[in-house]
Amino acid sequence: MVEIKKIRPSRTYTGEIWRTNKSNKKRLVKDFNGRCAYCDDFHLYSGGYNSYHVEHFAPKEHFPNLKYTYDNLLYSCPYCNISKSDKWPSSDAKINIIDDIGFLDPCEDDYYNHLKRKESGEIVPETKLGEYIYFELQLYLKRHCLIYNLDRIRIKQLELKKEITKRESDGKNVDKLNTAYSELCVLFCEYFDLFALDCEE
Ligand SMILES: [Zn+2]
Repeated sequence: MVEIKKIRPSRTYTGEIWRTNKSNKKRLVKDFNGRCAYCDDFHLYSGGYNSYHVEHFAPKEHFPNLKYTYDNLLYSCPYCNISKSDKWPSSDAKINIIDDIGFLDPCEDDYYNHLKRKESGEIVPETKLGEYIYFELQLYLKRHCLIYNLDRIRIKQLELKKEITKRESDGKNVDKLNTAYSELCVLFCEYFDLFALDCEE
C-alpha cells in the first residue's frame, strides 16, 4: 500500500479574504500542485486548470460566510467536487465528523490515515470513516486508477528523456534508454486507450 497522494498539500495563503475566488484558484493550483485534493488526479487529464473547481470543504450552501475563506478552499477535480456537493454531517463548520460520517481535509495529516492506494493505483479505504469518504466522493471510479498510472508513466518518461539528453550530450550510448522510453510510450498508449474507453462509458 502507498500514500493516496504523493505530495501532501498545504495552504500557503494567509492574507486578506477576497470577495471572489478568482485569485484564490490561482493560489490553490500551486498549493495543490495541479492535483485534486481528494483523489490526486492531475488536472491535465480532466481539461486542465479551467475545468477544475474551487471546492469548499465546509459547503458554501450551509456556510456562506466561508465562501472565500482560503483555509476552507481546496483544488478539486469535477468528479470529487460534484460527488461531495453540499454533504456535511453537522450544522457546525468545525464539526466535520460524527460517528464515522463526514469528511477530512487533505491538508490535514489525518486524511492519510483513512485512505491509501494500492501499488496498482486503486484507492482503498482503511477505516469506516475512510469508507464513507470513499463512497461519497466516488473514489472507486476507474478513472482515478487510470489517471494515476498515466501520470506515473508520464513522469517516468520525462525523467528518462532528461537522462537520455544528458547522456547524449556526454557522448554516451543511449540505445538501452531509448528502448525503455519506447516501451513506456507503448504502455502510456495502452492506458490512454483504457482511459478513453472509460470516458466514453
Ligand atoms: Zn478528485
